[in-house]
Amino acid sequence: MSPPTAAPARDRLRIAIQKSGRLAEPARALLSSCGMSWRESRDRLFCYGETLPVDLLLVRDDDIPGLIADGVCDLGIVGRNVLLEQDGDRRGNGRVPSFREWRALGFGGCRLALAVPESCDWRSPSQLAGRRIATSYPALLSQWLEREGIAAEVVVLLGSVEIAPRLGQADAVCDLVSSGATLTANQLKPVETLLESEAVLAGPVAPFDDVRGELADLLLRRLDGALRIRHSKLLLFQASRNVLPDLLPLLPDAEAPTVMQVDGQDSLALQALCHGALTWQRLEDLKRAGARGLMVLPVEGMLA
Ligand code: ATP
Ligand code: ZN
Repeated sequence: MSPPTAAPARDRLRIAIQKSGRLAEPARALLSSCGMSWRESRDRLFCYGETLPVDLLLVRDDDIPGLIADGVCDLGIVGRNVLLEQDGDRRGNGRVPSFREWRALGFGGCRLALAVPESCDWRSPSQLAGRRIATSYPALLSQWLEREGIAAEVVVLLGSVEIAPRLGQADAVCDLVSSGATLTANQLKPVETLLESEAVLAGPVAPFDDVRGELADLLLRRLDGALRIRHSKLLLFQASRNVLPDLLPLLPDAEAPTVMQVDGQDSLALQALCHGALTWQRLEDLKRAGARGLMVLPVEGMLA
């Protein structure tokens, strides 16, 4: 048999995203906001990048870490919960980690929580000793149990974890929670948080050694700009110089404002990029403190 040949250098970047589900639309919207557009294949599994040599592969979220590990995809957008679970699973089987989180993306927020029946008088994790806990996240749960020094039985279920206590399959569950409504509907209450999760950009542990490295850098720069301004607004207003010390602390998470002199010494025009919420209340506070002609503008793009 001939020796395996090195994979040919690739000149396009391939990103795996969820085909359908909670992360599908926001992932695509975020990449679009970075200036990308695609032509979709007939089977809607592959999208060919038109504006940049960056293609999309539409898959199940659970497949994304493995696709990166196998080099089928270069990057992926997936929940931190899935990424860390599969990382833990691989480490548990003695395999070296081949993917990692590159960026947190600020959507798909949820937490991996331990929940017990509402009737349970919860005092500490030690109560779980010898109990059965149902989960789809056995690696993350086992890591947590080990850290807490608890010997409990992990019951692996692929779905409908929250009904396991009612069916007598488990005494507690470890599952993803966002609003908590599903837990309440099943007479369960969250008692411990094992992991705070959100969608992340995942990539290989080692950097790319071909043109994909430059493409990934370009994507990261644009992503950082898009994430930074996601909730940002540009605030324009006028004020007298003497009220500036009162006004500036009222600007919500603002970068240093640009100050221009309008007439004489006293009247100034200011523009400030605000990353915090510019609520009506905040605008009224600014007006009371001496700001005039307040105007809030959307920010479409930013390149630091
Ligand atoms: P797929 O068909 O791709 O396997 P799925 O059913 O496993 O989809 P979704 O339910 O769409 O996945 O969830 C995708 C991700 O969304 C989760 O892994 C998690 O990171 C995030 N998420 C946010 N809120 C929740 C929630 N309340 N329940 C489950 N996942 C959530
Ligand atoms: Zn899934």
